[in-house]
Amino acid sequence: MQAKKRLVEKDPPLKPDDLIVIAGAGGFIAGNLVRYFQNRGFTRIRAVDKKPLYEWYLQVPGVESLCLDLSIEANCRRACEGAVEVYNLAADMGGMGFIERFRVECLRSILINTHLIEAAYRAGARRYFFSSSACVYNTLLQKDPRVRALKESDAYPAMAERGYGWEKLLSEMFCQEYWHERGLKTFIARFHNVYGPHGTWDGGREKAPAALCRKVIEAVDQGRDTLDIWGSGEQTRSFCYIDDCVKGIDLIMHCDDLIATPINLGSSELVSINTLAEKIERIAGVKLKHRHDLSAPLGVAGRNSDNTFIKQVLGWEPSTPLDQGLAATYAWIKEQYERRKQGRRVVD
Ligand code: NAD
Repeated sequence: MQAKKRLVEKDPPLKPDDLIVIAGAGGFIAGNLVRYFQNRGFTRIRAVDKKPLYEWYLQVPGVESLCLDLSIEANCRRACEGAVEVYNLAADMGGMGFIERFRVECLRSILINTHLIEAAYRAGARRYFFSSSACVYNTLLQKDPRVRALKESDAYPAMAERGYGWEKLLSEMFCQEYWHERGLKTFIARFHNVYGPHGTWDGGREKAPAALCRKVIEAVDQGRDTLDIWGSGEQTRSFCYIDDCVKGIDLIMHCDDLIATPINLGSSELVSINTLAEKIERIAGVKLKHRHDLSAPLGVAGRNSDNTFIKQVLGWEPSTPLDQGLAATYAWIKEQYERRKQGRRVVD
């Protein structure tokens, strides 16, 4: 049964000293989002993550930074005190190697959204953002590398990625019902493979662009001429540059036409993993022999973002060319790699 339509009341304009709470801020996307809002002139930002501060990718001066485990209800209440807007980007997640292996951890992120949205509602926040994923889409539609781009309605009938995808889908429903039943304005973006500087590049949670950058850097540094690629490399994906992602989050969160309406936030530039590797080799100025590990975790055969809806509603879509975004990502990971070799801290 469809939910009843609610009347949308207009909010007062967001003031620079309204409190913005960003969860998961020790991580990649939320860390960049904190910096984005500070650059836009917001003076009261509360950044929250369960990681100790020294592990955060970005620590932005002048921002209130709290270490709290947001799977605990009381911590969510503390995090949301006085909040005008709440952005939930906290999740236990990683690339394919992580989400295929640690489904329980992925599912347990349901606790974060469940407690955080309730705390945001009780605190009287005006808007709530949830970072969903293309992993909610029906996996049966993604069996071919020459995949049809996925549009928002392709999540149902549901056959999401086991663990991670189902957690996202259920949390999306929480967000929709908090609007329909309780009137909290919620916003849901389905991210498609976000990449860029200040993200995970080793340790097992990294995604393909960062992992391949690191492997190419290691091969060059260690004088090897081979590059290990997971699978045949024919699997396809699109990759969204971080600057487009944070701008998209802002646009989506402040568009009343998108209340409780999941929307793709991704690039529609589809590439195979082999092509991605070749692009990175070109940036590094090397040509390596590809060695394919056919037993590695792969995820779906192909996935792309259909951007018809976002272009229609926002008149905008992520557009940073992959070559440009990869060059910036490669440079940052190379710097981190060099720092680590010298025994220095690897985040700034
Ligand atoms: P990330 O791992 O870099 O950041 C997530 C952060 O959440 C981490 O710093 C982690 O410590 C924190 N966290 C985990 N559990 C927590 C808890 N209980 N309490 C407080 N903090 C906790 O990941 P990211 O790439 O920045 O992703 C951000 C969001 O976007 C996540 O919800 C993720 O599922 C979603 N997403 C990301 C991508 C992508 O390509 N990066 C794609 C689809 C969806």
